Amino acid sequence: MKITNKYNLPDTILNVLDRPTYSKGKAHISATELLNSPRIVQLKRKYWEFIETDASEMVWALFGSAVHNILEHGKGENHIVEQRLGTDIDGWRLSGAIDLQEEDEDGIGIKDYKVTGAWSVMNEKQDWHNQLNVYAYLVEKEAKKKVKSLQIVAIVRDWTARDTVKDGYPQSPIATIDIPLWPMEEREQYIRERVHLHSAAYFEMETNSELPQCSEEDMWEKPTSYAVIKVGGVRAKSVHKTLEEAQHALNQLKGYNLEVRQGDRTRCAKYCQVSEFCTQYKEYLSTKEQA
Ligand code: SF4
Repeated sequence: MKITNKYNLPDTILNVLDRPTYSKGKAHISATELLNSPRIVQLKRKYWEFIETDASEMVWALFGSAVHNILEHGKGENHIVEQRLGTDIDGWRLSGAIDLQEEDEDGIGIKDYKVTGAWSVMNEKQDWHNQLNVYAYLVEKEAKKKVKSLQIVAIVRDWTARDTVKDGYPQSPIATIDIPLWPMEEREQYIRERVHLHSAAYFEMETNSELPQCSEEDMWEKPTSYAVIKVGGVRAKSVHKTLEEAQHALNQLKGYNLEVRQGDRTRCAKYCQVSEFCTQYKEYLSTKEQA
């Protein structure tokens, strides 16, 4: 990957960004890649040397690494930090590095640090459940130790005391979130299904076939919606998923207009490193242009 430096950041920052601290070694896939869209993983693998990212866009990843490094120094006697575990499943090797395992008589408590926004804490991510349950699988299968609990330790980068009155807002800049532990069979089934999706995408990339499409969830898609708004007003009386529904609502009213709120694929538009190599996104943009 080429890292540009549009804002003339100091060399030390560039050097650190150029020296990644995590490698999946000889594994086919890491735990975090397993959760990701197979299309993104394969496009990154193919175009890695052509992907361009500015150093300024990597600041939160850098901050996350810094937090992980400093917290390693907080290791206690019953702690295992940054343990890397690997397992074989249907011919693929999966690896994962676990931030912290607290070993007690009744089992292991797994903790994963996240430097994240308050919004993510208030709208818990399914990815967190998936990732921690993959770690629980690795610990029970490979380290042969019982897992008793899973937790995210969120360091909330945009926390403000002023917002703590809001419902669900974290009460301190560090929030610990319990994550449900799935039964072992469910963890294994999840991993197996993801491995199959990724190995199929790998094969398709190797044979120059069409890659599987990203899902709406993968693309963080906000669908187009249709709002019925009073003439001269700002707030919608009602918002509809289809134009037909909105027209129907509009026909019942006098003095109202229809406003089309264009949807978007937020990840593709702003956060996907491979968007310029992605035919799915290019096709979406050209359809949108023609609409
Ligand atoms: S640009 Fe969008 S559709 Fe393409 S790989 Fe990225 S997230 Fe998926």
